[in-house]
Amino acid sequence: MEPWFDEAETNALALYMKSGGWLTEYSETRELEGLIASYVGSEHCIMMPSGTLALYAMLKVLGITGEVIVPDMTMIATANAVRMAGAQPVFADISIRDLCLNLYALSDHITRRTSAILLVSLNGRAPNMDMLHHLTRKYNLILLEDAAQSLGSTWQGKHLGTFGLAGVFSFSCQKIISTGNGGCVVTDDTQLAQELRIFKDFGRKEGGHDKYETFGINLKFTDLQAVVGIQQMKKLPWRVERKKEIYDLYRNLLIGITELTLVTTDLEFTCPWFVDILAKDREGLSSFLGMNSISTRPMYPAIRLTPPYGYGGAQDWISDTVAKCGLWLPSSSQLADTDIRMVCDVIKEYYG
Ligand SMILES: *Cc1c(COP(=O)(O)O)cnc(C)c1O
Repeated sequence: MEPWFDEAETNALALYMKSGGWLTEYSETRELEGLIASYVGSEHCIMMPSGTLALYAMLKVLGITGEVIVPDMTMIATANAVRMAGAQPVFADISIRDLCLNLYALSDHITRRTSAILLVSLNGRAPNMDMLHHLTRKYNLILLEDAAQSLGSTWQGKHLGTFGLAGVFSFSCQKIISTGNGGCVVTDDTQLAQELRIFKDFGRKEGGHDKYETFGINLKFTDLQAVVGIQQMKKLPWRVERKKEIYDLYRNLLIGITELTLVTTDLEFTCPWFVDILAKDREGLSSFLGMNSISTRPMYPAIRLTPPYGYGGAQDWISDTVAKCGLWLPSSSQLADTDIRMVCDVIKEYYG
């Protein structure tokens, strides 16, 4: 996966620099927020310096304490942000159907201290959101979304990140579009949006004076990055379509290899950010691909077993299987179809 920057970003940055802007968050950031909000269909979008800090700010401003259910298969930032905000992440297993929280086993993890469920729509896929809403209502929990990987993906046509009270996207350099680093919170809740804006500016309602309303820190974005983000938003529709084409091509070419499993993916709604496969003998496959100059990356470890969390315990979760077999294949939207055919030929050669 690689970002795509070209003359569009170069020219926009040059124009911005000549305009005398102060680089920090101002009108370009407002414009980018408007573009994102209308793309995903939310009332508000609040830019943050990263996806991690967007998750943190969302949890902190909502005052989420107690236990928060997070999936065991995710980028570690999901759990770390919960911890940083002062709550306790409680890991739950995923479903092999969509690699997201297994809703059928979720109630096993709900206790009197549970305050929220932080859904991760891994690789743009989502579980049955009606069922999830039913669960959160039944147990009186707040639904929040880490949709960092889901820009361009919907569940039944409604954009991911907009199902709960608030959702988060990331614009780090591997994500579908990038501002180098960056993230945002989207929400329809006007009061939450206002509180987030105050929180990210030292607890002030506006800059230029020192009137502090509440506790806050500096989580401002920069207009320099927003200028890039505005150009990236123009490329997003093409990238979303190209990602779907790439996934579809891989899927068609890899069909019939019994050593591989691909997660069922409805390309009408899901934009797979990475091409993920579950592979028998993953290490062997990835080193054979490496010998053929094809880079791959193992999927995430089961977060509950990583040193910062170190639960230990039984290792027969679905997340353990995915951590052991999951592999990301070359997924850049700049790949040509011939590149993808070549990768698939090498995979076929490996499995004989
Ligand atoms: C990338 C990512 C994050 C962290 O976002 P950053 O912008 O890198 O801080 C959080 N959660 C998930 C699921 C991610 O993929």
